[in-house]
Amino acid sequence: MKKIAIIGAGISGLFAANLFSKNSDYQVMIYEKNNSIELDEGYGIQLSTNSIKLLNNIGFNNLEDIDQFNPEQIDFYDLKNQKKICELNISKFNTENCKYTALKRSKLVEFLKDRLDNQVIKYGHNIQKIEKKDDQIVLSFNENNLQGDIPFVEVRKHPWRSLKTSASARVIPLSGNGPLGCTENTATSGCISLCLP
Ligand SMILES: Cc1cc2nc3c(=O)[nH]c(=O)nc-3n(C[C@H](O)[C@H](O)[C@H](O)COP(=O)(O)OP(=O)(O)OC[C@H]3O[C@@H](n4cnc5c(N)ncnc54)[C@H](O)[C@@H]3O)c2cc1C
Repeated sequence: MKKIAIIGAGISGLFAANLFSKNSDYQVMIYEKNNSIELDEGYGIQLSTNSIKLLNNIGFNNLEDIDQFNPEQIDFYDLKNQKKICELNISKFNTENCKYTALKRSKLVEFLKDRLDNQVIKYGHNIQKIEKKDDQIVLSFNENNLQGDIPFVEVRKHPWRSLKTSASARVIPLSGNGPLGCTENTATSGCISLCLP
């Protein structure tokens, strides 16, 4: 089984993970630096027929009609005098299953996220470096997340540093002077991402 690492749980990363998840030859993991994916209503997104064609590969055509809108025409207006300049008939690019679509961005992200297993997205993993060592690709993370809602340090095995036992791998939330101490520690160690380089 091939391991696939995707950096960033944006629309691109989530979509790519959905594609890989369809094939049991791949084990996919998304590393996202933030501690969660924002699913507030936010602004909308317009999707061309090309992107709908791609999204239909992972079941976008099953999305409820109430969650999307298929505009047929775009009108362009002059900002100064509000007079209509021209119109663009976008329905002529549509086919039966691929229609120019507008929807809430949060709805699209939710759709992409909900189709993935919970353990596929690893939050709080800020990738610092990608290297090729022999025949392996090695990802280096910023182990310390001191800016999030719950600052933490992650204890993890590295190629050059083993753990006492496998149970030693864990996330340790920091409280009190913990975040400050950790910031000073990384500063004196000369490495922004590791307490113990
Ligand atoms: C105001 C606005 C309106 C738009 N409207 C439309 C539209 O109507 N239609 C359209 O098709 N497109 C639109 N776009 C463009 C579209 O939003 C982007 O193309 C799309 O969101 C890009 O997705 P992405 O996954 O590539 O990147 P992003 O959404 O930027 O996601 C990148 C992810 O990677 C994470 N990340 C970054 N660095 C690291 C790291 N070192 N380690 C781990 N994780 C990391 C970030 O936290 C983030 O979650 C709009 C963009 C803007 C700003």
